Amino acid sequence: MRITVYCGASLGNDEIYKNAAIEMGRWIVNNRHQLVYGGGKLGLMGIVSDTVMSEGGEVTGIITHFLTERELANEDITKLIKVDTMPERKKIMIDLGEVYIALPGGPGTLEEITEVVSWARIGQNSNPCIFFNINNYYEPIKNMFDNMVNSGFLTAEDRDKFLFTTSYEEMENFIKTYTPPVTRKYK
Ligand code: AMP
Repeated sequence: MRITVYCGASLGNDEIYKNAAIEMGRWIVNNRHQLVYGGGKLGLMGIVSDTVMSEGGEVTGIITHFLTERELANEDITKLIKVDTMPERKKIMIDLGEVYIALPGGPGTLEEITEVVSWARIGQNSNPCIFFNINNYYEPIKNMFDNMVNSGFLTAEDRDKFLFTTSYEEMENFIKTYTPPVTRKYK
């Protein structure tokens, strides 16, 4: 499967994040998946793409022309696609991906994963969305989703369509058995 991984253009301040990106890269190759990602060389983006390449896997990166130098595009990958705008970049990452996984990252990562989450609820994304919750990094977002349920802005059913995990086994089962949310109707 093609796995789109969203993650930081920074490394974070704990080795645990870098190690999680290496582990994710190895999981992708060991399971004969392919990596789709933002095309950068820096931070966790660089770690996950370099790991997949060095383990003999396949990587497609999508980056904008204006970010090519700023984020140091990773030219040493299977295919690097350069586009003009961020929406184009995100669209290709969504179109190519069959599963969306967020490793820790900053505002860019958060925007990317929450976009696919929100699109799932309006029938525009039928693929699984996973928050890789290493070091409990995504706990505040998880709590926010629970708060949405408690406050009547998200159904409990839809909330269960997004996985927070650090277990590869749980992630694999989730992907295997995933069915998209029933498209939201407005009352
Ligand atoms: P960050 O998580 O902020 O380190 O960013 C991770 C990746 O997301 C980087 O490649 C950013 O260029 C990208 N990014 C940041 N903002 C956006 C955005 N508005 N739309 C798409 N990608 C973005």
